[in-house]
Amino acid sequence: MAKKIVKKGKKSHKNKPTSKKYTKYKIDGDKITREKFCPRCGPGVFLMNSQGRLYCGKCHYSEFQGKKKEEVSEEKKE
Ligand SMILES: [Zn+2]
Repeated sequence: MAKKIVKKGKKSHKNKPTSKKYTKYKIDGDKITREKFCPRCGPGVFLMNSQGRLYCGKCHYSEFQGKKKEEVSEEKKE
């Protein structure tokens, strides 16, 4: 009869997901280009890019990206 191995106590090892923060940095010669970071959380916390929107997973800050940048400058006209 084959012995049945019963795992006791020890949890199976699982690798943690990588943060992939390094993908937000691009080194070009001796210049470092960083992707957009959260204005609330500061540099180091990057914004997720989804459907033309930037979103911070930490403080839930979201920013609309793209064509309608002119509207922002128009707000100050009065
Ligand atoms: Zn944030």
